[in-house]
Amino acid sequence: AAKGRGRCNYQVFTEFMAEQLNERLELEHALQRALELEQFSLHYQSQVDIRTGQTVGVETLLRWHLPGTGNISPTRFIDIAEESELILPIGEWVLRKACEDGVLLQQRYGTPCVVAVNLSPRQLMQGNLVTVVAEALNDSGLSPELLELEITENIFMHHAEELQLTLQRIRELGVRIAIDDFGTGYSSLSYITRFPIDRIKIDLSFVQNMLTDPNCRAVTNAVIAMAHGLGVDVVAEGVETREQFEYLGQQNCTHGQGFLFARPQPLEQLLLDDPTLSQFDTVQISTH
Ligand code: C2E
Ligand code: MG
Ligand code: MG
Ligand code: MG
Repeated sequence: AAKGRGRCNYQVFTEFMAEQLNERLELEHALQRALELEQFSLHYQSQVDIRTGQTVGVETLLRWHLPGTGNISPTRFIDIAEESELILPIGEWVLRKACEDGVLLQQRYGTPCVVAVNLSPRQLMQGNLVTVVAEALNDSGLSPELLELEITENIFMHHAEELQLTLQRIRELGVRIAIDDFGTGYSSLSYITRFPIDRIKIDLSFVQNMLTDPNCRAVTNAVIAMAHGLGVDVVAEGVETREQFEYLGQQNCTHGQGFLFARPQPLEQLLLDDPTLSQFDTVQISTH
């Protein structure tokens, strides 16, 4: 019986794997044509200055609408794009569109609004990234200091040396650099002293548990303190509740991003908002 069950399980397992592989190949196939079929769009999620409640930036989040399948989450296709190198043309499209939209946001808002764009490791290792960024800025007319590139810390584990020059040159353009999902990577912290970084984003797994889990709270507080010590901004990701927002204010976290403030939304929607109107009564928050 055990043997029979074993074989049966084995079969189920391989069928499951085959299905997954199939789905993956289908996605990769569809991804290859997504750009030319104009199936991508960008959503933007507000980043709020915790001290004033005002929108001072937006993060660009890629959306893929595949007819017949619906909207596919970037968590399902970014890896495939990365492994197949499709991330290079897709990433360049994102960068160019985000810069163009950034100019429109700037015109609408009147106050500086930084546009953050996620970069994948392969984009960072591509030889002409600095040229691609410079051209996106030039062609759109966006001021370099209004563009921020988000990178994750794992890249520093294997490619710190190669990255040094690239990030330096990006910084020389006047473009900002943020470390995304901070605290979830595997690289040594020493990179943070050697690289030109403007901002650290605390991963949402810490932020969402900091009020109930003392360990998550300790990490959150430590990252905020470290950011202040380094003289860089610190953004809490995934802020969903008023309580989290108030706690972050008390800890002197400078910026927040999350469903409490705004969902990721199309540019048209954002252009309707008035960023100078704080949705939050921040007066009661003591920021000592
Ligand atoms: P990320 O860069 O860390 O982006 C933040 C993710 O958290 C987004 O998921 C956003 O919708 C989600 N989020 C924001 N606020 C909240 C909240 O309050 N609660 C919860 N539960 N989630 C929140 P999304 O849009 O699904 O993107 C997932 C990831 O895909 C991104 O994580 C980023 O790593 C990647 N990604 C998205 N767009 C691009 C892109 O254009 N290029 C590259 N290379 N990666 C991208
Ligand atoms: Mg990000
Ligand atoms: Mg993140
Ligand atoms: Mg992430």
